[in-house]
Amino acid sequence: MKSIVTGGAGFLGSHLCDLLLEKGHEVVCIDNLVTGNTKNLDHINSDKFTYLKHDVTKPIYFDDKIDYIFHLASPASPVDYLELPIQTLKVGALGTYNMLGLAKEKGARLLIASTSEVYGDPQVNPQPETYWGNVNPIGPRGVYDEAKRYAEAITMAYHRYHGIDTRIVRIFNTYGPRMRANDGRVVPNFINQALKEEDITVYGNGSQTRSFCYVSDLIEGIYRLMMSDFTDSVNIGNPAEMTVLKFAEEVIDIIGSKSKIVFKDLPVDDPKVRRPDISRAKEVLKWEPKVGLREGLEKTIRYFENIESNKN
Ligand code: NAD
Ligand code: UDP
Repeated sequence: MKSIVTGGAGFLGSHLCDLLLEKGHEVVCIDNLVTGNTKNLDHINSDKFTYLKHDVTKPIYFDDKIDYIFHLASPASPVDYLELPIQTLKVGALGTYNMLGLAKEKGARLLIASTSEVYGDPQVNPQPETYWGNVNPIGPRGVYDEAKRYAEAITMAYHRYHGIDTRIVRIFNTYGPRMRANDGRVVPNFINQALKEEDITVYGNGSQTRSFCYVSDLIEGIYRLMMSDFTDSVNIGNPAEMTVLKFAEEVIDIIGSKSKIVFKDLPVDDPKVRRPDISRAKEVLKWEPKVGLREGLEKTIRYFENIESNKN
């Protein structure tokens, strides 16, 4: 089995490369390192693994057979995609188009990493896949949300019109080792602030909710979806929902930090609630998350502690 992972030097992509190698796949990781880092791949010591530095918004050709394409390339943190709006739109549109073309050429199966952000600021909670969402296309977050919505639409068009074998995973907030300490997302921010005993920056009044999934659960869900025969979108995430304020308190408590909580402006169009309805994943993939928040956070905290101690 030969698999391509775009965005393979990023947080989720590098964990996916690990799982595929464990399952015996030959893996080609394609990444332009715009938000990723080859440090995430340093631990891999396998002659079945290749890394190619390439921007997937440009076409790429392969001589050999390819069985599976996992298209994860895209800035993913709000801070990243607000800094890289054009790249984000291009990788969702042109990157997905190029990967669909490659899948068509090779007769490969393609999975795209979509997101809970296709639901925007949802008016339905939890969000089932049948909910069409509430996205502001011209707001700052629109560059990511609409890129992913377009990616889903072109994927279904290739599936319906060209018969390409496709999968769509809608990923909800996922955390774990190999997130960038400074990527701006709430999990690395709060953990690093608490470890350094700096103020914990809660945006808004912290009443907005999120539901956090540990990376190993997410990757298992993606793998099961790729290996299934299900071609509609599937939510993968952990339905344990909490407010951002409660999450800050939880991180302070686990670390035993003296950090104080401070309140900062809420970013524009920040969704007020988010929680996956995972009935479909349970039914179709026999999947549900196994790692609880405390266990996942402890592993993630250890990872960031090690990075800090290796710096000194
Ligand atoms: P990440 O930033 O760590 O990884 C993304 C990777 O894509 C990086 O290595 C980056 O360099 C690469 N990349 C970006 N543009 C590229 C291009 N044009 N060509 C080649 N490589 C490119 O982010 P992540 O959290 O690992 O997210 C991976 C995927 O999962 C993204 O598509 C993201 O939208 C999706 N997702 C993630 C989450 C989450 O909670 N982590 C939630 C929803 C969706
Ligand atoms: N957030 C926060 N403080 C931070 C970073 C994020 O309060 O230092 C909030 C953010 O406003 C959002 C939630 O935490 O309500 C999750 O943000 P993240 O950037 O992780 O991802 P999102 O779910 O918004 O895509």
